[in-house]
Amino acid sequence: MKNAKLFERASSVLPGGVNSPVRAFKSVGGVPVFIEKADGCILTDSEGNEYIDYIGSWGPMILGHCHPKVVEALQNAVRKGTSFGTPSENEVLLAEEIVQRVDSVEMVRFVNSGTEATMSAVRLARAATKRDLIIKFAGGYHGHADSFLISAGSGAASLGIPDSPGVPTGAVKDTRIVPYNDLEKVELVFKEQDGNIAGVIVEPIAGNMGVVPPKPGFLMGLRNLCDQYGALLIFDEVMTGFRVARGGAQELYSINPDLTTFGKIIGGGLPVGAYGGSSELMSLIAPAGKVYQAGTLSGNPLAMTAGLVTLQQLSRETYAFLEKQSANLQEKLENTAMKSNVSIEIQRVGSMLTIFFTDHEINNIDDASKTNHKAFAGFFHSMLENGIHLPPSGYEAWFLSAAHNDDIIDKTVKCAANAFSFIERDHF
Ligand SMILES: *Cc1c(COP(=O)(O)O)cnc(C)c1O
Repeated sequence: MKNAKLFERASSVLPGGVNSPVRAFKSVGGVPVFIEKADGCILTDSEGNEYIDYIGSWGPMILGHCHPKVVEALQNAVRKGTSFGTPSENEVLLAEEIVQRVDSVEMVRFVNSGTEATMSAVRLARAATKRDLIIKFAGGYHGHADSFLISAGSGAASLGIPDSPGVPTGAVKDTRIVPYNDLEKVELVFKEQDGNIAGVIVEPIAGNMGVVPPKPGFLMGLRNLCDQYGALLIFDEVMTGFRVARGGAQELYSINPDLTTFGKIIGGGLPVGAYGGSSELMSLIAPAGKVYQAGTLSGNPLAMTAGLVTLQQLSRETYAFLEKQSANLQEKLENTAMKSNVSIEIQRVGSMLTIFFTDHEINNIDDASKTNHKAFAGFFHSMLENGIHLPPSGYEAWFLSAAHNDDIIDKTVKCAANAFSFIERDHF
């Protein structure tokens, strides 16, 4: 009962008992498990129960937990000091590693979270273009900065209302919302607002409405519209960066954005974010330029170390392995669901995937919201009881790691077969 007891205590000292909303199991019900330790792809909770992990800290743990090289490097680093507030070597090495892998990036600035990265990239885009308006996509998540906390509004150029109390209308008045994968609507906004759009911020593979890949031509269309109207294209690769390919989604789809945001994997499990682009654009950032952005713990030596060692382990072979394991998991889950007569749509790019309980392809947040989330909740709990920890929401991506071997995939599929049969009885 330790999990339940901890959650009860947590709920009196932490809002909702957690430090980030999805962790509270609100959309699937029940009590979250409190994790005591992790190794490879196995989580162990406060009661000693083990789970195969498909959360991977929401993406960073691509090598698996406690990769020996990362642990060793961190142990060495921690003895040398945890924060200096002065430049240190690993900031240079990690920046070089990123620049070398990502074509469109010549310079980066490190921050402490993905939220900070997107916030700062938008500030830079506005400064560089001397324009205010930003286009974002409904269901696209770019962290919790005020100007992104807006998603509603199905009409093309509709002025949205904020998603959260406390976000002033003024903070989102320069954000325009368009459905994901809908190039025509984007073009409409550009035409209506000719000369006012600073940039388009997009998850090149949407991962925060469940995994929704870009339709063929969508990203290229955005690239062309941005060029035509003098706006900047911002790829939010906080999730996809170094996840779907060595050079991120931009390598996979061969599109170079003007600015890219990173996070998650580049911190190897420690808190980091970064944004980058051409030297010309990045030189507008203080102190090289006038666009102010700073951080007491930015470039933190422990975070830089974990990120650097993580990237160094991510070879082409790692991505090939991740693709093989993930494709195998997808195929086996699809077959298993079919045998149980449960309609699912698995959408996957590399080692990120989502099972949608539907028989339709999902192209945007509207589609995702019409899937059977009650069936997902049932599936989730059946899996959890059998030792598989999925992300506790039908709007999230599952992440595989280099530690998800054949045996782990087979165990997962076996539990899923059981979960699907349960769903068939209860929901269809
Ligand atoms: C996780 C995420 C963020 C926010 O990053 P935090 O480190 O949680 O602030 C931003 N954009 C995308 C695409 C993300 O997946």
